[in-house]
Amino acid sequence: MSPKYKRVLLKLSGESLAGKAGHGIDFDTVLEICAPIKKCVDAGVEVAIVVGGGNFWRGRSSGNMDRTRADHMGMLATVINALGVADGLEQVGLDVRVQTALEMRSVAEPYIRNRAVRHLEKGRVVILGCGTGNPFFSTDTGAALRAAEIEADIILKATMVDGVYDCDPKKNPNAVRYEKLTYMDVLNKDLQVMDMTAASFCKDSHIPFMVFSIEDPENIFRAVQGEAIGTLVE
Ligand code: UDP
Repeated sequence: MSPKYKRVLLKLSGESLAGKAGHGIDFDTVLEICAPIKKCVDAGVEVAIVVGGGNFWRGRSSGNMDRTRADHMGMLATVINALGVADGLEQVGLDVRVQTALEMRSVAEPYIRNRAVRHLEKGRVVILGCGTGNPFFSTDTGAALRAAEIEADIILKATMVDGVYDCDPKKNPNAVRYEKLTYMDVLNKDLQVMDMTAASFCKDSHIPFMVFSIEDPENIFRAVQGEAIGTLVE
C-alpha cells in the first residue's frame, strides 16, 4: 500500500481508550488501537498523537470548581492517557516518546517542536500530552496547534461517531452523513465536530481534518490511505 499522508496527527479522544466501561483506560482497547498505528508506521507514515482526557476528567464539567484548576486536572488526565498509549505502542513494537506541554520531566520530555519533529523523522511515535498546556482550551485545539507546528498533512480525529451528520443519527434514523465539508460549513452550521476554536484555527492554518469512528480501530490505517471513511473537513 502507499499511504496518502506522510505525516499525520492522530487525535484520540479519552473516551476511545475507555472500552465498554466508558471511563478510565481499558488496556485491551488501547492495544487494539495500537495495532493499526504500528501498520501505519511500518508503511512509512510519521505519526504524532494528541490524546484527550475526557475518560477521566473534563474541566468544563466540573461544576462549581475554579475553571483553571479544573482544566489543570483535565490536562493531567491527558498525561495518564499518554502514558497508557505509550505503553501499548511499545508493546506492539514501536519506539515512542511522550512530550507534555506542562513540564513534568521525570515522567516525560517537555514539548519541544523541533525535537518532536526529529523523533518523527526517526520513525518514533510522539505522544503529546496536556493539549495546548493552557486552561480554557481543548485537546482538539491542542491537536490543531500541534498539527500546524509539526506541519502534519492532516488531523485524523478518531472518535466514537463515524462522521458528521446533518442531524443527530441517534435521534433520527434518516440522518445523512457528510463525506466532505468545508470549515465554513462546520463554523456556520455549528456542527460540533470539533470545538469552534479548533475549527477556526484549522481553517486559518489550512489543515484538513478527518473525523471517523474508532470502533473499528483498523479505520486508522484506512484513513492514512485516504479511504473515504467518516467525514473530511477541508
Ligand atoms: N485541557 C485544557 N487545555 C488544553 C487541553 C485540555 O485545559 O489545551 C483540559 C480540559 O479541562 C479538558 C480536559 O483537559 O476538558 C480533557 O481534554 P478534552 O476534553 O479535550 O478531552 P477529550 O474530550 O478529547 O477526551
